[in-house]
Amino acid sequence: MPYAKTGGLGDVAGALPKALCETNEADAALITPLYETTDRSLLDSLIIDNLEVEWHAGEDKPQARVFYSTATGAPAFLIDAPRYFARPGIYGYRDDYERYAFFCRAALALLKRLGTPPQIVHGNDWHSGFAIAELAARRSYDSFYQNTRTVFSIHNLAYQGQFDPAELPRLGFANEWQTFEIDGTANAMKAGLAASDVLSTVSSRYALEIQTPEHGYGLDWLLRLRSDRLVGITNGIDYDVWNPATDPHIAARYTSEDLTGKQVCKLDLLRSFNLPEEPDRPVIASISRLIPQKGYDLIREAAAALLESGAFFIVLGSGARENEEFLQRLREHAPHRVGIYIGFNESLAHKIEAGADMFLMPSLYEPCGLNQMYSMRYGTVPVVRATGGLDDTVQSFDRARGFGNGFKFEPYEAGAMIESLYEAVYCYHDEDAWRRIQTNGISADNSWQRAARRYTELYRAAMTMP
Ligand code: ADP
Repeated sequence: MPYAKTGGLGDVAGALPKALCETNEADAALITPLYETTDRSLLDSLIIDNLEVEWHAGEDKPQARVFYSTATGAPAFLIDAPRYFARPGIYGYRDDYERYAFFCRAALALLKRLGTPPQIVHGNDWHSGFAIAELAARRSYDSFYQNTRTVFSIHNLAYQGQFDPAELPRLGFANEWQTFEIDGTANAMKAGLAASDVLSTVSSRYALEIQTPEHGYGLDWLLRLRSDRLVGITNGIDYDVWNPATDPHIAARYTSEDLTGKQVCKLDLLRSFNLPEEPDRPVIASISRLIPQKGYDLIREAAAALLESGAFFIVLGSGARENEEFLQRLREHAPHRVGIYIGFNESLAHKIEAGADMFLMPSLYEPCGLNQMYSMRYGTVPVVRATGGLDDTVQSFDRARGFGNGFKFEPYEAGAMIESLYEAVYCYHDEDAWRRIQTNGISADNSWQRAARRYTELYRAAMTMP
């Protein structure tokens, strides 16, 4: 963000380089493809008109140019390769592996062209696995990269960038079969995991979960093998972008000391979904990709019970058709209680965070999750399943001690989710208890500063690797 986003990685790639630069301990820059959807007005200048990239796939060489931008607050280099990236979507093409293999080679060519060997190359998810594998190979013969160390971060292990290993020579990895191959398939995630100096993922609990067959997606054995090099660092949130005191998208600004503006935001939210302005009825919200990972089968099973709690239910998302259709039907069934927006809408996401009372995330698994943290910052109380980063960042509210910032359930069952939701709705009607949970959430330190400090420690550790 703001160049491109389909989910959490877009937010991370925007915020982490900036937070790293602010530590004054790292000179960080982002390298990312220039997508067709990227707003061209964010680009400062064209700095390389013709980037020479080592590439042998296809008859003619793809053209690559490099734009420079500082729109995130940190330097960013955007690689403009029309053959691979001038397409309407970000991911989801048959040749994705080839697109990102090219991007990785272009990124390494760019670093050379800039002239200073980087101490660390930090790759994120399978798309960067090609660069990590290439650097591991290059170290022995390319003096420019001799002292460069690599960090590879898993944002979601389920997406692995698999392709036919017969393609490896075309991509310039004829000698890296062993690094990429697993069960007869080439796998870019596996290459990143196998070749990187150190590994990280986006929460402590997910770091443990991915070492089990249940969450390891066939790579748990490799993660167990390399567990001494694997750490969990919970993502931060960008406190400049997600701040109810300054947010330009919301109807009224508010602070942790004075939440009156939140009520104005709630009424504005209800109006924008054509729902009755009933301020005392809680609003349960969800913003998500409508895919199985996000727990939509629990929501479908429990939708009637959810509405029986007396709450409004507002959803922003897009994804699996059956979930989209289910939500449309639910709205037709209860038009005065349900608000649905199918699509991607950044501004509406801010309005929902500000106007909702509760935020529901019943994920089957969740490497980190950002919306529960955005919610807390906006005084919106998360109701989550205890998995991955949701478990690390949300503590169940304990009425007697006034401790905790949300509600949490463990079994992946509709009944357990409803029990948590009912407990939340019950607490909502107790003004003092609710204010306590909101305050606990608002005061949690989920800043990128904290996470950036941990990444700089990890970079230092990587630099000591032989
Ligand atoms: P994931 O990366 O698995 O999608 P995260 O919780 O880490 O999940 O991050 C999701 C990010 O994408 C959040 O910033 C969320 O607000 C945003 N998001 C998801 N769907 C939409 C949507 N339909 N419109 C706007 N923002 C969305």
